[in-house]
Amino acid sequence: MKSEFEFIEKIRGRYSLGKIGDDCAVLPKDSKTDLVITTDLLVEEIDFRRDWMSPKFLGHKAMAVSLSDVAAMGAKPVWALLSIGIPEKIWKTGFVEKFYDGYFRLAQKFDVEIVGGDISKTPDKIVIDSIVAGEVKKGKAILRSGAQVGDLIVVSGELGGAAAGLKLLEKGIFYNDSAKIWQRKLLLKQLQPLPRIHAAQDLNENNSATSMIDLSDGLSSDLAHVCRESKVGAKIFADQIPFHKNLRAVAKSFDEKLNLALNGGEDYELLFTVNPKKKFHIENQLKNRHFFYIGDITANEEIIELIYDDKTEILQPKGFRHF
Ligand code: ADP
Ligand code: MG
Repeated sequence: MKSEFEFIEKIRGRYSLGKIGDDCAVLPKDSKTDLVITTDLLVEEIDFRRDWMSPKFLGHKAMAVSLSDVAAMGAKPVWALLSIGIPEKIWKTGFVEKFYDGYFRLAQKFDVEIVGGDISKTPDKIVIDSIVAGEVKKGKAILRSGAQVGDLIVVSGELGGAAAGLKLLEKGIFYNDSAKIWQRKLLLKQLQPLPRIHAAQDLNENNSATSMIDLSDGLSSDLAHVCRESKVGAKIFADQIPFHKNLRAVAKSFDEKLNLALNGGEDYELLFTVNPKKKFHIENQLKNRHFFYIGDITANEEIIELIYDDKTEILQPKGFRHF
């Protein structure tokens, strides 16, 4: 599969710069430490809608999506910068204060310090640029490119919840007192995702993961990114994919649930690969259903096989893409 950003790599190539394409850029900091850094753009009406999401949820999500990229490198987030373009009429509503409340609350949870940003006026819609930087031991950032043939493919939690939450919003079911408990659980997966910072750092501490990515676009697309960068293929088992507990209320058939889990996106769980000899490191999490084994890395470069009822189909990446 071609990356949306291949044209940028091509242009950069002309200037003999290094390769782009992981969840964060990795830069040398000092003799013992590398710096990782990521930026995420959130555009109103494209990445979020103000009538679906309170300012506080939006602030949380702006921090969460970037923290999740830092987690995907196995790094510890440390600093953040936040820039916002906002129309005057929204500025006057006190939006920004509530937004920062959600943003700072999540930053504080992971000891992340805000060190700057920028603010400007836009004609009509909000635009947010969230930058988070973190640290990792030199050479220890977990890249998308490290998966080896025979590695186990593992995810750090249940999938499809965020996509199901989005379905509810599309139907006009919002996060408020009249929403049922199961609806609120799904809505929170969409509106208030929790990045897997600690799980990612633990994986790095015991050298368990050979490659890692966070699930932002959707399993089918994000696994394709890992396969592309690692020059490998994958085989995953439909009956091993962990569905969010409340999916059944939104998706009736197994196929509908599978579609949400494979292609829905925004779950912000980790997808990583483990050398089978290191499986003992994650045995407890697998047993307690904190992690889920879903398949294996194969030598079929960039081919993802989905094993479903003893049949094998080729899985196409159908996760989120802007263009
Ligand atoms: P993620 O979903 O992990 O945030 P993206 O899909 O946004 O990652 O981006 C994939 C890769 O492409 C990242 O390494 C990112 O830095 C790079 N990238 C995306 N957009 C641009 C751009 N406009 N210029 C340079 N690199 C970009
Ligand atoms: Mg990512």
